[in-house]
Amino acid sequence: MAERVIPLVDQRLAALTPSVPAGAVGLPTGWLSDALGRPLRDLRISVTDRCNFRCSYCMPKEVFDKDYAYLPQSSLLSFEEITRLARQFVAHGVGKIRLTGGEPLLRKHLERLIEPLAELRTPEGRAPDLTLTTNGSLLARKAAALKAAGLDRVTVSLDSLDDAVFRRMNDVDFPVRDVLAGIEAAQAAGFDRIKVNMVVKRGTNDHEVLPMARHFRGTGVTLRFIEYMDVGATNGWRMDEVLPSAELIARLREHLPLVPLGATALGETAERWGYADAAGRHDPALGEVGVISSVTQAFCQDCNRARLSTEGKLYLCLFASQGWDLRALLRGGASDEALAAAIAPIWQQRADRYSELRGSLPPDGQAAGGARRRVEMSYIGG
Ligand code: SAM
Ligand code: SF4
Ligand code: SF4
Repeated sequence: MAERVIPLVDQRLAALTPSVPAGAVGLPTGWLSDALGRPLRDLRISVTDRCNFRCSYCMPKEVFDKDYAYLPQSSLLSFEEITRLARQFVAHGVGKIRLTGGEPLLRKHLERLIEPLAELRTPEGRAPDLTLTTNGSLLARKAAALKAAGLDRVTVSLDSLDDAVFRRMNDVDFPVRDVLAGIEAAQAAGFDRIKVNMVVKRGTNDHEVLPMARHFRGTGVTLRFIEYMDVGATNGWRMDEVLPSAELIARLREHLPLVPLGATALGETAERWGYADAAGRHDPALGEVGVISSVTQAFCQDCNRARLSTEGKLYLCLFASQGWDLRALLRGGASDEALAAAIAPIWQQRADRYSELRGSLPPDGQAAGGARRRVEMSYIGG
């Protein structure tokens, strides 16, 4: 059993202070480029730091126990505050918004946040793609309301079809059948292009890769395999528990014919593989799988994602140790123009590329430039 590393410093308290540039400030142009030439396109918003699961790779029970200090309600951004910030990000070029957490469906009346977000428009007049990542436990109950509020897509996390393995991985004895019922409810509510995310841990659930692929093949649901990542500082990550995507695809191809597919969008995290027909051509009716190789194949060079934490800090990388306190600006009375003006230079100075540097950094959560501990994924969202 890997030794658990308990963070001594609560990184949620560490914050960088954004400032509004003095003098005349131009309006957002829908285009911001960071220090490495990467545009800002994708905003992930964590709406709660709480979760009803205790996946060992994300919120291990030993750390996230009954004494863990979750954020008080007053620290959370309100739906109005989230919407105001999201509007500025969309003005700066964000075309995709993902609600996440923690478990986002634990946030009460989430559909009341989705409604105003669905009304945002990019500078070209397009509605941003509005998606949600959930563990699926409450989806059967909420799918219809989410759809009615204007949510475009859902991604459901599911690590195994074997009930015993799944109950062990979520560590709260939650049954597989209820997550599958959530996926069915989402389909019945009219969601298409549903994705299922499976975090693969060698020795824990890698034997479930093929059964999962067989189960979702031809159902219209796209299964994506995620390499187990060294996010946060509490999951006791070890490289030997990572199943490299190349090995995973090779294993799948021994049983199911797959052909490589091109990326659909720049900055897309998943490498896509299509199920092939007898002639070796992709058969769209059988669908596709994706692999997200955050560990073995860094995709930092196209990374266009920003993350807004539950309490309004802006993180520029999943592996960052500090975020920019946008809530301070909001609650200090900043105008929309001032918020937009503050966001621009934060993105413009961004040079984060943790995954590309992983191999050359000191071990155990010490991000480039300092020995601070990284924030947890449940806090900034996946
Ligand atoms: N609770 C929701 C869920 O599980 O879908 C949303 C938040 S969760 C942090 C978002 C995604 O991050 C999930 O798909 C989860 O499997 C993934 N994740 C969490 N910890 C991870 C890790 N150590 N490595 C890879 N993926 C991880
Ligand atoms: Fe909860 Fe999602 Fe983290 Fe699992 S991965 S503990 S469901 S936030
Ligand atoms: Fe983006 Fe950071 Fe992940 Fe690289 S490590 S892809 S910069 S979030």
